[in-house]
Amino acid sequence: MRILVEDIPKEGIKLDFDLPPEWMRERIEDPGDDFRFAENIGVWVELYRTERGIRVKGGYSSVAQLTCPKCLEEFTSPFEGEFDIRLMPDIYIAGKREVRLTRKDLDVEYFDGVVVDLENIILSELMVNFPHDKLCRPDCKGLCPVCGANWNYEKCEHYGAEHRYKNPIWDKIKLSIKL
Ligand SMILES: [Zn+2]
Ligand SMILES: [Zn+2]
Repeated sequence: MRILVEDIPKEGIKLDFDLPPEWMRERIEDPGDDFRFAENIGVWVELYRTERGIRVKGGYSSVAQLTCPKCLEEFTSPFEGEFDIRLMPDIYIAGKREVRLTRKDLDVEYFDGVVVDLENIILSELMVNFPHDKLCRPDCKGLCPVCGANWNYEKCEHYGAEHRYKNPIWDKIKLSIKL
């Protein structure tokens, strides 16, 4: 997935490909239980030559395999996004600050001017946007802090009174104020 700048024709090139679900985890050191996909990752990329560098437009679409941070249930969620990056050769790095200021609306990155590393670009887009903290549902009720019951499915005897159990220190403080 490395493309030579000299191989990019004037009219640009378009690529369309699928990456296997494990593609991202295989490229991350110690991914733990994170960055899991339930389906292939569909990717499209367009590369154009610009006045000074290369414009990389693209997108990805898949289904993320997630664990709800509140109730710890496994679930899947559509995961897709788009990007539009300007790659500038390193020789312009001296003017980096000015470029950043005048092109605030654009993503400007630097490269060696010879090879476009698509793998790196896709990997960092997926990393930055992966929905780690997404809940299984917007109103996930979580687990009971006392008995561990999943409040999305059952109401244990502690349900509705969680404020009394969540932070015993707060109760002690209230007690000492009364005294
Ligand atoms: Zn949940
Ligand atoms: Zn409970």
